[in-house]
Amino acid sequence: MLFIDFSRVCEKLEGTSGRLEMIDIISKELPGLTQDELPVFVRFVMGRIFADWSSRKLGIGPNLLYEATGAVAGVTKEQVIEKINRTGDVGQAVEELLSIKSQMTFFHEELDLVRVYTELISIAEKGGAKSQREKLLAVRRLLGNAHPLEGRYLARILLEELRIGVGEGSVREAIAKGFAVDSSLVEHAMQALNDTGEVARLAKVGPDALRDVHITPFHPLKMMLAQQGTIPDMIKEHGSIAAEFKYDGSRFQFHKKGNWARLYSRRLEDVTGALPDVIEQLLSATEHDVILDGEVIAMKDGKPMPFQSVLRRLRRKHDIAEAQDAIAMVPNVFDILYLDGETLIDLPLVERRKKLEGAVRLFVAPQVQSDDPSVITKTYDNALAAGHEGIMIKVPTSPYTPGQRGRNWIKIKPEVDTLDLAVIGAEWGEGKRAHVFGSFLVAVQDAGKLIPLSRVATGFSDEQLAEVYELLKESVIRKSGKEVTFEPSLVFEVGYAELQASQNYEGGFALRFPRFIRIRDDKDIPDIETIEGIRERYKRQANSAQAYQN
Ligand code: AMP
Repeated sequence: MLFIDFSRVCEKLEGTSGRLEMIDIISKELPGLTQDELPVFVRFVMGRIFADWSSRKLGIGPNLLYEATGAVAGVTKEQVIEKINRTGDVGQAVEELLSIKSQMTFFHEELDLVRVYTELISIAEKGGAKSQREKLLAVRRLLGNAHPLEGRYLARILLEELRIGVGEGSVREAIAKGFAVDSSLVEHAMQALNDTGEVARLAKVGPDALRDVHITPFHPLKMMLAQQGTIPDMIKEHGSIAAEFKYDGSRFQFHKKGNWARLYSRRLEDVTGALPDVIEQLLSATEHDVILDGEVIAMKDGKPMPFQSVLRRLRRKHDIAEAQDAIAMVPNVFDILYLDGETLIDLPLVERRKKLEGAVRLFVAPQVQSDDPSVITKTYDNALAAGHEGIMIKVPTSPYTPGQRGRNWIKIKPEVDTLDLAVIGAEWGEGKRAHVFGSFLVAVQDAGKLIPLSRVATGFSDEQLAEVYELLKESVIRKSGKEVTFEPSLVFEVGYAELQASQNYEGGFALRFPRFIRIRDDKDIPDIETIEGIRERYKRQANSAQAYQN
């Protein structure tokens, strides 16, 4: 296929707004393409260059493109930018600029679709000190041979923003229609391979080839995602359900074949270099060739650290001091997608779980399976008590569906609700926090009286504790041992997981998992939450808990 013919298809698609019509246009082109052309065509038409699993980048910024366009059209880079600003579209600007050029030059080497792709691969592969200059020359060569219409789409593909409205769904339907195969077969192959181009090639071979797809190690799959839901709904719908802790860290996909292993992030970026310790731990856990799905969390003194610690730990990778700060990165593995050459995504979760437990010795996330709400609720309580985010509920019979946010994985975590409360007392901190207040007594109001509701000791940074100390030190009106009482003046916004009936505080309520959110210096004591408001919230919570029992 000539690139000019591809560009004409793009032009047609750009002038079409109906999805069905677009699918029709694409599907008519597909059967006539060769096995080499098919993957390039379907990727380009979506504005992509490389396979979806690939983290390869072209490494061309807009500036380089403007410079190359200027050189080819015989204008300055500034004039190119001016043109783009006027037309509001890079493609159109390049097309107009190239049409001036094409009146001056007589020789064109016809661009071919596959040849353009090959050129782009070699551009992506250029690295090192001189690479920008080499990339510039390569883009100049491409644009120098381009007709104006080709320039329009080439420019947009180079920036990976084709914007002709063709998405993965349309291409999937077009492949199904063009090769007369079942759309669900195409969808399944797309999930397993994460490469629409390859799927188009298989569809051309026939439905059996599509049916027989295999996962390839080091071609990461999209991650399966979760929806929100409730424990009773899931039990009602499925009977026995599986529950795991919901770890608050960073999602990973671990690929291992022989002695070779890589780690991919949720966005399928290769993060092997950033997390060598995680790779090492996982390598120590299995001798098999595997693809594992999991979440890496930061742990300190046996407790999970907030998600930000994972990021902070990554940033401090090269800092020697970091080695002493005792934050360990711990993988939690909850699924297996591939084992010793076998693709497992279509097996039910229970079967995958058996394979996982058989193949991986360490770091497998514990799982509870039950149709008893109290057992699942207990797991949830344990998860929160251990400092995790909540639980994930999974349907035992469900396959692994990459990239899908379906009802087979349900996340249950506390709603983050907040209250504005008055700070009425505090306790001195300990250790390196001994010179500031470390935990605070907060109160609601009841007809002008302040009633203690909770103690808040988490959620503060060292800086915030120092700031709060400065704000409160002049307000101390009583001291008793480690405790102080304040003349109320400061308001905290406090997050919590749940309101509980409690005899410990005279208001009759207490907060579960209270956490400092921020100082509300825009609020005064009369603005804080009332006991009436708390009762209302408790009633609402009880109602939803009852819905939860039914
Ligand atoms: P959310 O990001 O709130 O939509 O929750 C889904 C995310 O929870 C997944 O993408 C994982 O990163 C994370 N997660 C933590 N623990 C698990 C688990 N046991 N199973 C699946 N996902 C988990």
